[in-house]
Amino acid sequence: MNKTELLGRWTKQKSEELYGIKNWGAGYFSISENGEVLVNPYKDKSAAVSIMDIISGVLERGLEMPVLLRFENLLDSQISFLNNSFNEAMKTLNYQGVYRGVYPIKVNQQQQVIEEVTKFGQRYHHGLEVGSKAELVAALSLLKDKEACLICNGYKDEEFIDLCLYAIKMGFNCFFVIEIPGELDTLLERSKALGINPNIGIRIKLAAKAGGHWTDSGGDRSIFGLNVSQVITMVDTLKERNMLDSLKLLHYHLGSQIPNIRDIRSAVLEATRVYAELVKEGAPMGYLDLGGGLAVDYDGSNTNYTNSRNYSVEEYCTDIVEAVMSTLDSSNIPHPVIITESGRTTVAYYSVLLFNVLDVEKLEEYEMPDQLDDSVSEQIRNLFDVNKNLTLKNIQECYNDALYYRDEIRDMFKHGRISLRERAFSEKIFWNTINSIAKEKQKLKNAPPDLEDLESAIADIYYCNFSVFQSIPDSWAIDQLFPIMPVHRLLELPKRNAVIADITCDCDGKIDRFIDLHDVRTTLPLHEMKNGDDYYLGVFLVGAYQETLGDLHNLFGDTNVVSVRINPDGNYDLVKEIHGDSVADVLSYVEFDPKDMLVRFRETAEDSIREGYINATERREIMRAYDNGLRGYTYYER
Ligand SMILES: *Cc1c(COP(=O)(O)O)cnc(C)c1O
Repeated sequence: MNKTELLGRWTKQKSEELYGIKNWGAGYFSISENGEVLVNPYKDKSAAVSIMDIISGVLERGLEMPVLLRFENLLDSQISFLNNSFNEAMKTLNYQGVYRGVYPIKVNQQQQVIEEVTKFGQRYHHGLEVGSKAELVAALSLLKDKEACLICNGYKDEEFIDLCLYAIKMGFNCFFVIEIPGELDTLLERSKALGINPNIGIRIKLAAKAGGHWTDSGGDRSIFGLNVSQVITMVDTLKERNMLDSLKLLHYHLGSQIPNIRDIRSAVLEATRVYAELVKEGAPMGYLDLGGGLAVDYDGSNTNYTNSRNYSVEEYCTDIVEAVMSTLDSSNIPHPVIITESGRTTVAYYSVLLFNVLDVEKLEEYEMPDQLDDSVSEQIRNLFDVNKNLTLKNIQECYNDALYYRDEIRDMFKHGRISLRERAFSEKIFWNTINSIAKEKQKLKNAPPDLEDLESAIADIYYCNFSVFQSIPDSWAIDQLFPIMPVHRLLELPKRNAVIADITCDCDGKIDRFIDLHDVRTTLPLHEMKNGDDYYLGVFLVGAYQETLGDLHNLFGDTNVVSVRINPDGNYDLVKEIHGDSVADVLSYVEFDPKDMLVRFRETAEDSIREGYINATERREIMRAYDNGLRGYTYYER
């Protein structure tokens, strides 16, 4: 028992510190006086709503966990924040151009998200970026603002090109970004055929390369974009065809989640130099598109660690504006419209995944006997002695011995020399020993490296009602960290150390790395489950990339989605509910036909009657159960 526990003084401040909510919450998330997580879209406590209230509201309406909450205010706030930060930096530095952000659709393509981006973005002329035909078709169905930019990246076929050109003809501020040299010929051909002048942009490969997880898009050998000699060839071709007037935009994308501001600055400087040279070549230009990369501080550490960033949004904006100005002013080149394609920062805060804990597996502490019976075998006796003789001084030796004897005992079992009951007894002693070693270890300043991962080995396993693969795929695929914490009981000391297992029953369906200010934690402090009471956890900042990268592993489908609007008076509306996939839905994704399945199962049931296993009434019950199964939610239902 530690001191806090003895004094019985666990407070909301302690929870705030433990889970780092103030560090990663960006002012949107906090803890209430009664120990629940609050959402404050206005960064103003009076309009804060408890996530637990929303959970009750959702359950009362008959929706089951897991639920993805989307807070439309947070999207609104982030778009405003980004635009205001750029506008502020431009004003302060006396920049002569304007900022026009675009939202890259691939970061979260759900219709509702794009709809809200265009709605909240309108007052800033915030536009869209598309990277495929499908995304362009989606964008054109929702974008109304003709002053907003529509940036067309990606590999383009004739259909895609024609649609871009028609968008220009309709008055959209639409740019056609050349990603590979071969695209130019088709574009010029189609533009001639349709009689529409294109707005051409070029995507360049920079020499600058950034650190981080997702930054392979940058650097000399990145797969997209033109290198400098290809840029010159393109300028010459455009000159020959008398089309240089159409070259208006320079684009690069260094990669996503760039943690270090230095990398951002050096990329802007390099790109602005290219921009200046294109102006000197005689292109009208006017637009500088810096792509994405503005990172989210997932662990709240404010460092250049991959899950963080060592700069604020304000610094990002100021550094960019400064770099562009300093480069262009020396050549007397007018300031361009600055475009960024920030996706992650725009939508990450927007969504929170909520789920309940279904069960907990604990390593039960075992009451050791003082002495062993004479009948107990020598190896088990040795293991028992290891446990008894453990001290801080021989901790490493005890650890090695415990492993050694455990393996020997397992071997003996394999060869039939001890019984299952004896082996079970030895495993209890073994885990007791490991437990004691872990406890002793805490007294050491520098634990031996072998013992570093001991906590996760003895951690509780909290089985939770969600699928990592469906809802937080980057946690599995690239070990990305997201803030995870209980959304209630935050005035109570969380006594258990846990890892999280999902319900896919896949050994990869787990979370055993958690955010920490200085390191990565291998366990998450959680509260003891109280008999029969629900316990809810939230995974935060999951609005970017997670929703459509997710897959149907073990046929767990889309979760229920509830959109929440928080009003300035602190009330909230559930503005939209989207029911998650049913079992029939996910089966149809893998080409099953649920109607066929019912027919076939009915035939099988009829056979069972004929063979005397069941009677007709039982068939009716069984068919009802099968039908309910088909209609059910793919997750654990109460
Ligand atoms: C993915 C992508 C983005 C989004 O980057 P974020 O880091 O999420 O802001 C922007 N532009 C292009 C071309 C992209 O491929």
